[in-house]
Amino acid sequence: LTLEPALLDEAALHDWPLPQPDASGDKESRGHVLVVGGSVQMPGAVVLAATAALRAGAGKLTVATTAPAAPMAAAMLPEARVIALPETQQGGLAPEGAAALNDLLPRVDALLIGPGMQDEAAAAALVNAVLPALGTLPLVLDATAMAGWTWQPPREGNVLLTPHAGELAHLTELDKAEVLKDPLGAVRTAAARWGATVVLKGAVTHIARPDGRIWRHQGGNAGLGVSGSGDVLAGVIAGLAARGATLEQAAAWGVAMHAQAGEALAARIGPLGYLAREIADEIPRRLARHC
Ligand code: AMP
Ligand code: MG
Repeated sequence: LTLEPALLDEAALHDWPLPQPDASGDKESRGHVLVVGGSVQMPGAVVLAATAALRAGAGKLTVATTAPAAPMAAAMLPEARVIALPETQQGGLAPEGAAALNDLLPRVDALLIGPGMQDEAAAAALVNAVLPALGTLPLVLDATAMAGWTWQPPREGNVLLTPHAGELAHLTELDKAEVLKDPLGAVRTAAARWGATVVLKGAVTHIARPDGRIWRHQGGNAGLGVSGSGDVLAGVIAGLAARGATLEQAAAWGVAMHAQAGEALAARIGPLGYLAREIADEIPRRLARHC
């Protein structure tokens, strides 16, 4: 079966409105996001992703990061509850932190693991220890948290992976050149093999569902290729999922709003040199244009 990808454009978004917030709702009604990540070398990625989740309209935020990074995260995110987790000798998150995370899971509506994680083996062990406790909770895995991804999610549609071509190559043991040559085949195979929704990021982004359906999105600009940009995208997706979108819809809207934010920043600031944190700050205006 080779389905043509569906075009993720303005018309597709228009026909697929996000769940509307209850005008009289409190913060609980717009969802609680838990962002897990950070390390000694990349303490800021978790701040970017968490900021983006709030910019996407999520109501509540908890950040879990390594104990040495926690005070910094707390200072940079006065909106967040911050949980300090044990670190590995290399300064990454230790798998032992999974117990504390699993205690939190019943109280959250979306989980993002990955921004700024650096220790691949420990990250894989941590994700592995969280999966059995996931239940129906939507999980977004980004960056190093995908490194050991070889499991079926507990429930189809429960897990979303957000690799760029290099990361998908690493995951599927292909060359990056092979992924770039056949992105549709690579992303479709990955989604089917793992029963997960997979977002293959790039100048063109493909979103594949386990059943083989694919969205194709083209937009944004080269300025989006900058440190922290993917962390912001993952945070937006988690934020939208917490608000009640399915992971597929959160990914579609997140990819489109991230790209449109880049276009707005290119016009206002310049085609290159806008910052990942500015992409996050642009998200509310982009979402408001559609609601
Ligand atoms: P990451 O590589 O994880 O930091 O993610 C980079 C983000 O920027 C992804 O969402 C890409 O789709 C996006 N991006 C990178 N380069 C471009 C480009 N030339 N045009 C449009 N989007 C891009
Ligand atoms: Mg990335």
